[in-house]
Parts: sequence; structure tokens; C-alpha cells
Amino acid sequence: MKFVSTRDKEGKKYSFTEAALKGLAPDGGLFIPEEIPSLSDEYTQEKGLAYEAYTILKPFFSGDESEGDLLSICKKAFSFPLSMHSDGGKDTLELYYGPTCSFKDFGARFLAFLMDGALKRRGERKTILVATSGDTGSAVASAFYETEMLDVKLLFPKDGVSGRQRSQLTCWDGEKVSSFEVEGTFDDCQKMVKDAFMDARYSSSLSSANSINIGRLMPQMIYYVHSSFLYEAKYGVKPVVIVPSGNVGNVTACYYAKAMGAPIGKIVIATNANRSIEDYIASGKFTPRKSIHTLANAMDVGAPSNMERLFAFYPEYDEFKKNVKAYYAMDDKIRQTIKEVWEEKGYVICPHTACGEFVRRNWYKDDPTIVVATAHPAKFETIVEPLVGKSVAVPESLYSMLGKEENVKTISPDYTKLF
Ligand SMILES: *Cc1c(COP(=O)(O)O)cnc(C)c1O
Repeated sequence: MKFVSTRDKEGKKYSFTEAALKGLAPDGGLFIPEEIPSLSDEYTQEKGLAYEAYTILKPFFSGDESEGDLLSICKKAFSFPLSMHSDGGKDTLELYYGPTCSFKDFGARFLAFLMDGALKRRGERKTILVATSGDTGSAVASAFYETEMLDVKLLFPKDGVSGRQRSQLTCWDGEKVSSFEVEGTFDDCQKMVKDAFMDARYSSSLSSANSINIGRLMPQMIYYVHSSFLYEAKYGVKPVVIVPSGNVGNVTACYYAKAMGAPIGKIVIATNANRSIEDYIASGKFTPRKSIHTLANAMDVGAPSNMERLFAFYPEYDEFKKNVKAYYAMDDKIRQTIKEVWEEKGYVICPHTACGEFVRRNWYKDDPTIVVATAHPAKFETIVEPLVGKSVAVPESLYSMLGKEENVKTISPDYTKLF
């Protein structure tokens, strides 16, 4: 089983582990599986989530150096539950019971333990450099904190993250994971990362763990396979799966899960006001935009980087249009949906999940559906609490990161200050 670049499908082939260590293909493209295998006969939900994940991912590691470690990587990575909130077929897949309370824990933890094993074999240490405006940084910090061969440097824009997000970024020891508050914007942070990777003094010891890494994307298949089988067994139909999306990595994993044979009907992208995908479907022209700031800030992406993978999956516009549905929710609809769901169901959702729920209520109200809940509402309490008129209980893992002493350096946007 091999992986190739989106920009040269006939070109050089890489194993899963090599592709994860590289992050980006040398030609600037993204790694994709050469083919999507069918679910194996070994697939089972009977031995717990980690074992189920192992049976789903195993075909992608055939012949890979990490093949023999895969089960133990899955056991370390998927050490927390996922939950289906049932509501008569209008169900919600809750992916926020990991250490940092968003779905990003699934991908970040799998990548961390995969890389750690590979670097141990090589006797090499690396530093992960990550610019973050929210959930990615905390998921990466928390995951790589548990590794032996990797350190993390986190960069975030001053005044660019919420109070609780900030706590999750600055609660670390300052050595294994160090945080830098940059006097600049998120774009400045991203530029610093790029500059550091171009500087020969530092680049060989650096590695990335951003959402275009195939090692974060593939493990996200497991919850689509898991939840769609459960749904079909319970209701006797295949669900439409609605995925709140930004960089479209999470929804790409849903397409891969369906291609493997998971019983999924349509797949629907829900976005906030950043509508480049909706506009592409309507016009046939893909125009990346500047991102617009919204209440669902982890989805504020104007130029979704994983579109390149979706285009590789559906190269013809007609095919793309037939298979990819996308609808957006403006901020007023996000607020309205959080309020409605609370008043009607007594159920609290985060602003990202609200985009998905809005799409369900407007375009799929008579269909069997799963909306993916991407983060815990307590992470966005300043938005959610005034709408539901009560405080939202904070999960234990989030609680343990709040109120800790801050360990953070404030720096100007100059990448040499990171070293
Ligand atoms: C990252 C994130 C998203 C967007 O996921 P993509 O894979 O970038 O499409 C949605 N919701 C939350 C809470 C996130 O943290």
C-alpha cells in the first residue's frame, strides 16, 4: 500500500509512515492513498474502539515499517470514547471526549504515536512547529507531550484566541511544549513557521503536524465507519452525514470511509460564512478567498487546503457536483440554532456543530442524518452560555488545563526568536 502526491499520481510512492514524517510531498502536493481498499473481513466493533481502528487502518499499513506497531499506536491514541447522541434518527456524533475536547484529538494523537515510533527506530529527535488560532495547537501539544522523541513549539497570535483556548495553549511545561504569543496576526505566525522551515540552520530538526498531514487525516475515518454501521443497524437505513468543515480534512476522511464500504448515504459539508466551496459548486470555478471571522472560528478558512485532496478524489466538476453538497450558516443562524436546539431538546451544541445542525434543519429535515459535533460547547462558553441562559459544565480534561499558571513567552513576529 502506497501514498502518492495529489500533483503527480504516477510519480514517486511513499509508505504511510514516510508520508506522515514528510508532511507535504516534495512537489508541494498533498499525500493521498494510491487506492482506497475495502474494509477487511477482520473489521469488528466487538473489541473496543482501539481495536476497531486497527482493523480499519491496517490495509493502509500493509508493508509499512509501522505495521507491527499499529495496534499499540491505536491503543495509545484512542484511549477515550466517542458517543452517539440518539434522537430518533436525527443523531449527533460527539467527537469531543478526548483530552482537548475537539475531534482533532483523534488525528493528533495517532500522528504523535506514529511519528514517535518511527523516530525511535531512526534514533532521531524532532521539534514540531505549529501555528494555531485555536483547537489545533492544544490537540497537538497535548498529544506530543506524551511522546519521547518530539518537542513542540506553539505559536499563537496575541488577542487571537479565546480565554479557554489560551489556557489550553499556555498550561505546558515550557520545555517539552513551549508556547509563544506573537505580537501579530495568525498570518504572521504562519509566515514565521514557513520561514523557519526555509532556514537551513533549523529546518532539519523541524517537523510539522498540521491538518494536511495524512497521518492526522486517515485516523479520522474510524468514527465515520463506526457511527454509520451503528446507525444502519439501529434504523435500517444509511445516514446522510453532515460535517462542519473548514480545511475540509475531516470531511475528506468521511469520503474515504464511504469508499472503504462504510454504509454512508450522502456526505454534506457545512461551513460558516466562508463559502468558497459553495461558490465552487455553484460556478465551477474555485476561488480561494481571505478568511472571514465568524463565531465558529476553527472553521474560518477562505482557502481550504484539503480541497486539493477532494479534487483528486473527484477530478471532474460534474462528478464533484454530484457527490459533494455544501451549505453555509451565517453567524445569526449559528446563534439561532444553538438557542433552538437548547429550547427544543435541552441539548447544548458548540458554534461549529451549530453550522451542521442548521444545515440539517434546513435542507435535510426529512432525511436520516448524523451531524458531526466537532467540539465541546464548554470550549466556547462566551458564545454559548448567553444563548442557553445557563453555564455549561466543563469536562474534566478541560478543567484540568484551566487556571494553571501560564507559561508563555511574548515575542515579535521574528522566527529566530523561537530558537
Ligand atoms: C478544526 C475544526 C473544524 C474544521 O475541521 P476541518 O478538518 O478543518 O474541516 C471544525 N470544528 C472544530 C471545532 C474544529 O476544531
